[in-house]
Amino acid sequence: MLRTARTRSRANARESTPFMTPTNQSSRPKSVVSVMPRMFSDKIPSGPRRTFVFPGPGLPPDNLRVHQDRRCFYDLTREELRALVVRRNLSPVHAERIWGYVYLEGVDRFADMPEVPARASSRLESELDLALPSVVHETHSSDGFTRKYLLRLLDAHRIETVLMRFTGRVTACVSTQAGCALACVFCATGQMGFGRNLAPGEIVAQALHINRVLRPQSKTQNTKPKTAGAVAPARLRNVVLMGMGEPLHNYDAVMKAADILRDPHGPAISARRITLSTVGVVPGIIRLADERRPIHLAVSLHAATQEERAALVPVAKKWPLDALLNACRYYIEKQQRRIFFEWTLISGRNDTPAQAHAVGRLLQDLRAQVNLIPLNPTAGYDGVPSDRTAARRFQDILAEHGLPSTVRQRRGIDIAAGCGQLATATR
Ligand code: SAH
Repeated sequence: MLRTARTRSRANARESTPFMTPTNQSSRPKSVVSVMPRMFSDKIPSGPRRTFVFPGPGLPPDNLRVHQDRRCFYDLTREELRALVVRRNLSPVHAERIWGYVYLEGVDRFADMPEVPARASSRLESELDLALPSVVHETHSSDGFTRKYLLRLLDAHRIETVLMRFTGRVTACVSTQAGCALACVFCATGQMGFGRNLAPGEIVAQALHINRVLRPQSKTQNTKPKTAGAVAPARLRNVVLMGMGEPLHNYDAVMKAADILRDPHGPAISARRITLSTVGVVPGIIRLADERRPIHLAVSLHAATQEERAALVPVAKKWPLDALLNACRYYIEKQQRRIFFEWTLISGRNDTPAQAHAVGRLLQDLRAQVNLIPLNPTAGYDGVPSDRTAARRFQDILAEHGLPSTVRQRRGIDIAAGCGQLATATR
């Protein structure tokens, strides 16, 4: 029997405007800004002390291997920094001050921390690296709300991070891996293949980078917006783990990064404003539930039958639809929280009324919300996004089944910054 929540769904549909990118969208970016990379090739990326070796073609030959003994500062939680400081016979007060300088004031040099005595800062500087990844390239979308940053990691892997402005909020879409191993057919990151997992600090650093892009504004910005949506708060408050990679394939690093981002004395991003999107890694979903991780969960569904899903998301062969839904039920029960199900709308492929009814039936006993994402173009997939009418019809049918839904705003498509469009050519 169908439940009715048409009213709620219609309200959701309204919230999700604009459905399409404004009509002045051109296929080319409004502006492309090249940014000089900062030189920091003499530093190691993160993690425990180690010797770092540049691998790969086109990179420094073996005799230019870099050896260094510094840890990435952003890999550390506040407690770990404090413990490290105390182990060096320094006062824990210095740890708190350094943490504040870095995360509240955006300082990235020990020399710029006047309240930390020179003895402490020189000792810590020899151990901790405060450099953020260098910006290789920055592109601005003609929509005026979206910027994409190509960041170079210390081993020359490249990742992309996206800044999205919405009315009253800024969201950072951060990567959790360089590339992705999952090969979802419509996803550019999947099409490029897997590079490596990111360290916690490399995930945190992306959010910090966005925060620093916003920071200069806060000093000059008029608090009264001139046009709705044009001005967003100057501090980053929302993070979506929906950039390159599969976050649950890099579980420990992602959770540590989320803990650092949530630190109330640091970035202070509320757990309610961090959303992790997974392709459907069943053991990871169960672990999230068992550990009662407070962040939001989004699951990429895209199809309502095992066969159709496996054709779009090959990893569904490993974690079939029924196992995925059981894991989702477990998560919802344990966490007492709903799950967002993502559904990339591909015209004629998964946007028919029959498929809308099928997903409605599939999710009817779950606390769920469906996020519909009109397909974004990628080089390796020739599907077409559903039009506005098909998306509305899909939503209406979901509503007949009592399922709330939204249609995701299309942002940054002209600079390939939309869902599934992030990819880097080489490292
Ligand atoms: N690995 C994670 C994060 C991927 S990106 C995951 O699979 O969930 C976030 C969302 O964008 C996912 O739901 C993904 O399936 C979707 N997506 C990928 N390529 C897309 C495309 N070309 N158009 C629209 N959505 C896409």
